[in-house]
Amino acid sequence: MFSRLVQSFREPNLKCVIRVSYSRGMPLETLSPSRASDYKQCPQLFKFRSIDRLPEPVTIYQARGTTAHLALQDLYDFSPEQRTPEALYDLFRKAWTELRATDEYADLFASDEEERTWGVESLKLLANYFTVENPVEVAPFDREMDMLEDLGGITIRGILDRIDELPDGDLVITDYKTGKAPPERFALPAFFALKIYALLVRHKLGRAPVEVRLLYLNGPTLYRLPVNDVQLDGMERQLRALWAAIDKAIDTNNFPPRTGVLCDWCSFKDRCPAFTVDNDEEMASSA
Ligand code: SF4
Repeated sequence: MFSRLVQSFREPNLKCVIRVSYSRGMPLETLSPSRASDYKQCPQLFKFRSIDRLPEPVTIYQARGTTAHLALQDLYDFSPEQRTPEALYDLFRKAWTELRATDEYADLFASDEEERTWGVESLKLLANYFTVENPVEVAPFDREMDMLEDLGGITIRGILDRIDELPDGDLVITDYKTGKAPPERFALPAFFALKIYALLVRHKLGRAPVEVRLLYLNGPTLYRLPVNDVQLDGMERQLRALWAAIDKAIDTNNFPPRTGVLCDWCSFKDRCPAFTVDNDEEMASSA
């Protein structure tokens, strides 16, 4: 289904955050690919993020992802011959200098030494980019493409990292990832949001992308998935069903937790009913 082009080389999202509002008891008005992925992974996670709007702690990994995304976006402001590793590292430093001046990131590191180590590791990760793609040969059609599309009764909002138009006119979507690439057999779910982006592109531009790509800097690994109109029609049906399920969950305030391997990375595990209810019961029974 998908092919891995690059894997197991040595060494190491600001994806614009889409603020979509949901209100308890109010019908769903807009859905983003990220929030759709949340609900698919775990309805309780969707509730924590989108209904309760609980803050999530900023981590060094999230900071690295945000900064790397900004640097990679800005790299394509340069002419092809200027898109060098040194230029990318400078863009990373510049983006981090701006981010660390904000309240959100100001206290992320306990010491200068920690921050320096993080920076060195981040630049090593960015170096991997050049082993996966040659930016001199990449001609983005658009970056940070902001789409708000009404797909006949459901409104989807998404901002994709990059879309390229190949010399033959084919469109290809690329999403940058700074987290570790999943093993190939587990990679397919990671394409869920990208297929929604492909659907939005088809609606906005009137032609379907032929491929979606997940570019993991940590690996580095490039996963590619061909897409076509039939698959995107199926994605649209799936999205409608998901929309109806979320609408019903909001109406009934029923967001069951769905536990899995990703719970260990969930910011809300310490307040999740799937974990706290058992603990509460244990405490009650041992009292
Ligand atoms: S800990 Fe697991 S089950 Fe609970 S909200 Fe997070 S992902 Fe869902």
